[in-house]
Amino acid sequence: ARRKLAAGNWKMNGTRAALAEAEALAAACPAPGCDVLLCPPATLIAAMAERLRGGPVRVGGQDCHPAPSGAHTGDIAAEMLADAGAVAVIVGHSERRADHGETDALVRAKAEAAWRAGLTAIICVGETEAQRDAGKALEVVGAQLDGSVPDGPTPERLVIAYEPVWAIGSGRTPTLEDIAQVHEFMRARLAARFGDALADGVRLLYGGSVKPGNAAQIFGVPNVDGGLVGGASLKAADFAPIVEAA
Ligand code: 13P
Repeated sequence: ARRKLAAGNWKMNGTRAALAEAEALAAACPAPGCDVLLCPPATLIAAMAERLRGGPVRVGGQDCHPAPSGAHTGDIAAEMLADAGAVAVIVGHSERRADHGETDALVRAKAEAAWRAGLTAIICVGETEAQRDAGKALEVVGAQLDGSVPDGPTPERLVIAYEPVWAIGSGRTPTLEDIAQVHEFMRARLAARFGDALADGVRLLYGGSVKPGNAAQIFGVPNVDGGLVGGASLKAADFAPIVEAA
């Protein structure tokens, strides 16, 4: 059975004062029934990893550069995230695809970099509202999976997050039936390319307006192995019940 994962994406939120929330989360979930991950801004990774060391909450990055080092001002290598104490990194988040023009090929290169550095890659996919309205959600997600997931995944180092763009930060979520449909589709797509063992083992997260009030329902959907949570991961009082629901 797949162990669920509750991952928090702090996005561009948080200064050192927010490390108290990470500590409060760890204190609120001393023995979680799932894996718990917080992905703070890069400036906080080292300090957060230090403060949470030995506890139930692990730390990840929000992005990485494909190269291990070099002349890339402002970028951060996967190896640097690992050195700072991260165990995972989100790649291909829709905000990076939109704000920074990231293509599937670049996302794939970033996921390969994550693996090279020993990190789990959390690869994000998801359709826009216009694409869903046009009946193209599965087509879009399938193409993103094909283009963004590198060869050679293992269930330990690959996580997929389905985040419909229109559900992020909007308070709107797909129906449970729609989530089930996309997740079943993704698992079948991975099985077709990588075989049943990989597809059965890899965790498929749902992301987009996950809150304490809807987490249990969403995490109960077949083929949903946890969540990637934005706004509701910033406060321990919100994220702890979501962890509890996973
Ligand atoms: P919200 O939970 O704030 O909708 O954000 C979801 C998300 O983008 C997580 O990566």
